[in-house]
Amino acid sequence: MTKTAEHPDRARAFVADDARAHWHDESLWFVRQKRDRQVHSVPEWERLRELASQVKRHAISRWPDYLEEFEKNATALGAKVHWAADAEEHNRIVLGILRDAGVKKITKSKSMLTEEVHLNPYLIKHGIDVTDTDLGERIVQLREETPSHIVLPAIHLKREDVSETFHDKIGTESGNADPAYLTEAARQHLREKFLGAEASITGVNFLVAETGGFVVCTNEGNADLGTSLPRLHIACTGIEKLVPRAADLAIYLRLLARSATGQPITTYTSHFHGPRPGGELHIVLVDNGRSDLANDPQFRDVLNCIRCGACMNTCPVYRRSGGHSYAATVPGPIGSVLNPLHALTPRIVRESEQGEGVEPREGEAGDAHGSLPFACSLCGSCTDVCPVKIPLHHQLLALRKTVGDRGLLPWGKRIGMKAAGKLLNSPKLFGVAGRLARKALPVLPRAAIYNRLNPWGVGRDLPPAPPKSFKQMWRDELKQEASSPGDPK
Ligand code: SF4
Repeated sequence: MTKTAEHPDRARAFVADDARAHWHDESLWFVRQKRDRQVHSVPEWERLRELASQVKRHAISRWPDYLEEFEKNATALGAKVHWAADAEEHNRIVLGILRDAGVKKITKSKSMLTEEVHLNPYLIKHGIDVTDTDLGERIVQLREETPSHIVLPAIHLKREDVSETFHDKIGTESGNADPAYLTEAARQHLREKFLGAEASITGVNFLVAETGGFVVCTNEGNADLGTSLPRLHIACTGIEKLVPRAADLAIYLRLLARSATGQPITTYTSHFHGPRPGGELHIVLVDNGRSDLANDPQFRDVLNCIRCGACMNTCPVYRRSGGHSYAATVPGPIGSVLNPLHALTPRIVRESEQGEGVEPREGEAGDAHGSLPFACSLCGSCTDVCPVKIPLHHQLLALRKTVGDRGLLPWGKRIGMKAAGKLLNSPKLFGVAGRLARKALPVLPRAAIYNRLNPWGVGRDLPPAPPKSFKQMWRDELKQEASSPGDPK
């Protein structure tokens, strides 16, 4: 049996610091409210969401055609397109390009794909000096942490934490947590890195099949500065970033920044069409399980995701448990769908080929991520805010079944679910259990109710037991109505 308790354990550590958990919650709610104000200023918002969802669905249904069209057009513009089936191949390709060019120092702008494939540790292991240039990413890189949010990588840190890190790593004044001072120090520190870089790696927000170009959105201009100085630019991207036409960008760019940070548009929306004069441009297209997902009708909509982070900003669980509690590159509601799927999909595919009862392979069983679909109140707020209409909470519910069907629940939950299934399936048994509970709860000692067997009771109390069942109350109500007809309600 695989271990599935990782998220609750990590979340417990985060919420233990009550003040920080509250501050994290409020900071993200502030972003969510900014998003709401922007959304309400666009009357056609729902129409845009519908179009965004349909265009992505269409693109995914014709992936081979559009990807070939993209490759043809990008090549005609002078770029070299590479195909990587998985993380390992992606990293090998990138290292090969850097080695061929004799590069030892690179800058990198924010890219969740390179986080997904763990590019930084791979390149560092092979002697390449990598500097993340997005401010939040640089902060977490200096702290040797991973991003805790896909748009706001250092949202778990207060400015005092940043001040301490900068003092230790880049020599700023001890105790000076003035944001203007810290930002200027980061600017000077990164400027040196930009000037010394021999190549630049960027992520991609949108690939455009029709033109062979791509778009990178940043608020700091770091992708532009990074790619303007060295002659070598490598763009790393998942294949789901593809849209058919340049005109489609008009939909996504309006949705992305509003959903992500509550801005009408990202400060820098840079369009790349081929290498800069005298330069070299490589585009690495990565599958890493995406084709398998595209073949799964129940879950393929997760490929619509434009990584805006809105589902994280609104999620009560994410806001209160922190991004690191998910132990995954992509946290929050979308991460709770993507990560278990990433672990389970190869097994599901083998089952469809070989029949049920396929044994899990090493690392495939969902392990730490098997608990993520259960880290959800099913409030549906993520689905409501998602700009590309991914039915996130429905998918989380469906994944619970997938995890349960494959025997990946911890034993306590499995037994509990079996018992609840029996109880809820039998009205007689339910009635007896209700009667017993109403009698026992008021007289049982507290330790008999709130103990290790009742994780639900940690930090919450049951309401007082009612004297009668709902059914009994309803019957009494009907009787009373029958005995006094005509009473005004
Ligand atoms: S699932 Fe939707 S809301 Fe969440 S990051 Fe992706 S696009 Fe944004």
